[in-house]
Parts: sequence; structure tokens; C-alpha cells
Amino acid sequence: MEEIPMSTMNLVLMGLPGAGKGTQAQLIVQEFDVPHISTGDIFRAAIKNETPMGIQAKQFIDKGELVPDEVTNGIVKERLAEADTAKGFMLDGFPRNLVQAKSLNQMLADSGRKLDAVINIHVNPDILVERLSGRFICRNCGTTYHRLYNMPKVEGTCDVCGQHDFYQRDDDKPETVKNRFDVNIKLNTPLIDFYEQQGLLYNIDGEQDIDKVYADVKKVLTGLTD
Ligand SMILES: [Zn+2]
Repeated sequence: MEEIPMSTMNLVLMGLPGAGKGTQAQLIVQEFDVPHISTGDIFRAAIKNETPMGIQAKQFIDKGELVPDEVTNGIVKERLAEADTAKGFMLDGFPRNLVQAKSLNQMLADSGRKLDAVINIHVNPDILVERLSGRFICRNCGTTYHRLYNMPKVEGTCDVCGQHDFYQRDDDKPETVKNRFDVNIKLNTPLIDFYEQQGLLYNIDGEQDIDKVYADVKKVLTGLTD
């Protein structure tokens, strides 16, 4: 009997920190039943299970060194060889650069597969910096506030202890957040161009309400299986 080609849902999910990628990932996995392959999780699993690539990765991590692309690619390849990815998968946090993206295309081609879509949750970086750098803390009692979401009831006065002395952690300061973003954007831009050239890129407006963002994502994913 001839095999009927099955429609697959081989996805990459992209988005800068704070763009709401995690929420969308959860919604996609719930509805479309594809395994969520996040690099953080598969690294931990590969190291714990002492897979060949996990053992290599651990050697770099133990020395405090960056894990080279070959090893990261190897860990993803091991994961994509597992049976639950046959009908699809959603990669999250990989690829991070062009070398990894090209390697992903190759490893999929080697197993007779291809990517179907790259979903990019796009939010203006200035808005993200505002969201992620809004946190400040009462120096007296440690209560945390946020300039956008959780201001003290009386400006400049802590709701809990009534003191007026606030500070920001270095990690929450706008200049630190902005630097982190610049690094991310520098890595992301060539990736986005690469996937756009291949006709795989779907930019989703991430500045809308969560439901609306997901409705747009769903439209793309539903279109893939038609
Ligand atoms: Zn306080």
C-alpha cells in the first residue's frame, strides 16, 4: 500500500524576552498536541540521561564555557529523533543563530522532513524594555512594584510600610535590559531574514491582547494542515 503523506506541523517559535512567547507556546501545545521542545529542557534532560551529546555539553558547562553549536545541534538532533516528533514539534529557543538554523534544515532533510513555519511573536523592543525594566523595590520592606502594572497607591509611598525609598536591581535597570535586548536582536535579525527568504516566516503582532495574538497564531497553524 502506498503511504499517504501526512501533514506535519514542524514549527519554530521565536520572540524576544517579554513578548509573550511562553504563553503562546502553552496555548499551541494544548490545542495542536505537538511536543514543546525548549532548549533549556532538552539540555537538562540530555545531561541527566547522559546521552552522548549530553556528556559533551556537561564538559563545557562544568568549565563555565559556552556550549559550541555542534553540541547544541547534536542535542536537538537527538531530541528530534524521538518518536513523538513524527507528526510535528515546536522548537523554542533553538535555533539561536544562522549556523544552528542551517544545521536544523540539514538534520530535518536527513530524516525526510522540513520546517513548516516559523512563528515570530513581534513586539516593538522599546515596549519590551519598558515592560522588563519597570520593576522597583521598597528598600525598607522589600515589596516589589512595577511602573506599568503595579504602582503604589500613593506615588512615592510604599503601600506596605509607608516609606519613600525605592531602588531597582541592576538586572531590572533599563540600560541593562536594553543591552540584553541588543544582543538578542543582533542574533535574531539574520535568522528572521533567513526564514523570510525561505517563505517560512509568519510575523505575529504581539502587541495585541493575548487572545488576539493566539487567534492570529492559530490562523497560521490551521492553514498549514489544510
Ligand atoms: Zn515598604
